[in-house]
Amino acid sequence: MHSHAMLTGGCRCGGVRYRATGAPEFQGLCHCRDCQRLSGGGHVGFLCFPSDAVAVEGETILRKGIGGSGRGERRYCPTCLSQLFGRSEIIPGKTNIYVGSLDDNTQFRPSFAIFVRSRPPWDTSSAELQCFETLPGQ
Ligand SMILES: [Zn+2]
Ligand SMILES: [Zn+2]
Repeated sequence: MHSHAMLTGGCRCGGVRYRATGAPEFQGLCHCRDCQRLSGGGHVGFLCFPSDAVAVEGETILRKGIGGSGRGERRYCPTCLSQLFGRSEIIPGKTNIYVGSLDDNTQFRPSFAIFVRSRPPWDTSSAELQCFETLPGQ
């Protein structure tokens, strides 16, 4: 992904749209139980941007206390309930965009996985990635 790139995305119903300017600072998979329950899968993919690089159009609803750390917050479309993006107290000033909401999710290049202690054996999506039991440095 080039430094001048712009990623666009939105929710399932089109009520919320966003654009992220520049390259993501990092891209990874999260296998925490909250990500599993909220996505209905074994993990969620995320792209981390500086929060001021992400512009949002449309109303979202906020849910706090989410994530493997319990210190994250996420935003959803109030109509279709798509999970769009979130922030965490652990990495202040950053916004994680969830890959499923991108218009073109083929550009996703995850390099690591977190909370693999909760990864189910059938989810091999992070087998080739650098893996952390919980978070890096912990
Ligand atoms: Zn929607
Ligand atoms: Zn998670």
